Amino acid sequence: MQPGMNSKDMSIIRMNCELYDQIVQYAKEHLPEESCGLIAGAIEGDSKTIKKVYFLENVDHAEDHFTLDPKEQLMAVKDMRANGYKPIGNWHSHPSSPSRPSVEDIKLAYDKDASYMILSFLTAAPVFHSFHIENGAYEKEDLRVFNEEYYF
Ligand SMILES: [Zn+2]
Repeated sequence: MQPGMNSKDMSIIRMNCELYDQIVQYAKEHLPEESCGLIAGAIEGDSKTIKKVYFLENVDHAEDHFTLDPKEQLMAVKDMRANGYKPIGNWHSHPSSPSRPSVEDIKLAYDKDASYMILSFLTAAPVFHSFHIENGAYEKEDLRVFNEEYYF
């Protein structure tokens, strides 16, 4: 095993840059509040491809935490089923803290199969990472934002 290799979860998550841009734009519009939503797509073996991003109301309307609107959550899950998408995880923004799970994020992460994506506005250019959270610990996932011409 090479250093830095992860034996447990080698999956690659791919996200088209247009979807990423949607998240950045929506989250910017909702600053200084945290914004949040769900992420769905296709899962094939170790490969996950995000097909749709859902934008849900942060019912807390807070700057340092979020709660997904339960009614909108239900509607999103119904829409996933109707489109044949699988739930991949959720996303939220950190208006003024880094792109990593907060103590509260870790505490509330009950689904070890979900990807927890965090968009940080701490620096001038937003930073977006995806995390696996299990047993009070988190690990960065291999999230690749791409467009038709290149991966980065
Ligand atoms: Zn958070």
